[in-house]
Amino acid sequence: MFKKYHLAEDAKIKTSSIPGPKSIALLKKQEELESQNRSYPRGIPLAFGRAKGSVVEDVDGNQYIDFISGCGVFNLGHNNSYIIDGLKKSEGLITQAVDFPTEAKIVFMEKLSKMLPPSLRGNIRINFGGPTGSDAIEAALKLARIVKGRQGIMAFQGGYHGMTTGALSVTSRIAYRNGSIPLDGNVSFMPYCSPYRCPFAKNAQPCGEECIKYFQNCLENPHSGISKPAAILLEPVQGEGGTYIPTKGWLEKIVEIAHRNDVLVIFDEVQSGFFRTGKLFASEHTNALPDIVAMSKGIGGNGYPLSLILYKKELDVWAPGTHIGTFRGNQLAMAAGSLAMEFIQKFNVEDHVKEMSSLILERLMSIKKQFFNIGDVRGIGMMFGIEYVKNKETKEPFPEMARAVKKRCYENGLLIEIGGYYGNVLRFLPALIITPDLIANGLAIFEKANIQAS
Ligand code: PMP
Repeated sequence: MFKKYHLAEDAKIKTSSIPGPKSIALLKKQEELESQNRSYPRGIPLAFGRAKGSVVEDVDGNQYIDFISGCGVFNLGHNNSYIIDGLKKSEGLITQAVDFPTEAKIVFMEKLSKMLPPSLRGNIRINFGGPTGSDAIEAALKLARIVKGRQGIMAFQGGYHGMTTGALSVTSRIAYRNGSIPLDGNVSFMPYCSPYRCPFAKNAQPCGEECIKYFQNCLENPHSGISKPAAILLEPVQGEGGTYIPTKGWLEKIVEIAHRNDVLVIFDEVQSGFFRTGKLFASEHTNALPDIVAMSKGIGGNGYPLSLILYKKELDVWAPGTHIGTFRGNQLAMAAGSLAMEFIQKFNVEDHVKEMSSLILERLMSIKKQFFNIGDVRGIGMMFGIEYVKNKETKEPFPEMARAVKKRCYENGLLIEIGGYYGNVLRFLPALIITPDLIANGLAIFEKANIQAS
């Protein structure tokens, strides 16, 4: 159905080796000029030229099926023509208006408000800050602390929330936190419901109970050593952590315990939101209701930078100018975001995601059966994780194998990501408008890469 939005329906490798000569030349120039900090081209040494839908082309003309989607940004594919054509009509649009009202902004906010789950609709305020997901997290933490007059935050193990100091303080990965960076000390980390790697008991039944008890004890035991926090912050589905999907009912229980203790609930939907899981918010697959939601990535329609928090009206107590910044709401991103919402409704993208998601999961499950080192396959909407282990019984992580498969994938024309607590989870974030042919061809490359790497 969405065929015309993609550059092609299969990968095409033209050069005798990957990277091709033009990529190598640009990578070399990049190395001379750009910071040592660069990371993606170390894992996928390519230089890109153009892209459409779920296919990107490198500067040598090789075409790759894209299951990374700009880290979950291109939810409707690269350069979706509905969005690009729509934007042409807004030629001359003021692109930076700080926080003055514009038509583009009001339309965007109205459309987003109408899409909210009924329990939030009509009862929220939207705040735009800097253009990154990290900034939305900073805003959410600041607002929660002002509202409650408390400094503490409870975050969750495996959570990724960004790289600015506040966002990094609630991100659990030790390597990112690096001992020499002064971080916010008012953060405690709770175990997240990660059924394949339960920190309490292997294969606990029903999974999730132990970490709920632990969380409750930390909040309610007068000797827990943790002062009552302003808020808890968590991803309803962990992205970078390795696509961990909590068991049914877990999120509701965590939220209920937080609320019972007068603690606010912040959902980080930067990655899992904007229909990535088939619904506006991943939390809509549950009955859990947040007080504050952080959004970014997909909301800019075509990868244009935009982030926001939305929160219950009664929390709107901060003084004017409490969270300011120059780039508060790129108008082009808002116009593109509105077109993206229109597209999603008009073409019933939610149903398409459901269908394509089952197709991918079914195929991944059958691939899992063939390979001794694939310990687990999980997915929801267009968020998938394939976890590599040395041994299915011990579940010893196998990051080397994940890296080897990823390498074979891009060499054969498929772009995928690595994440997971131990760097051993391959992650797929395909566009929501992926087609059955792109899925079949992409997963054929993935299967072949597993054979080559085994
Ligand atoms: N939260 C989540 C869940 C994310 O996945 C990310 C980015 N991967 C961020 C926050 C940070 O967003 P940004 O990189 O735009 O600052």
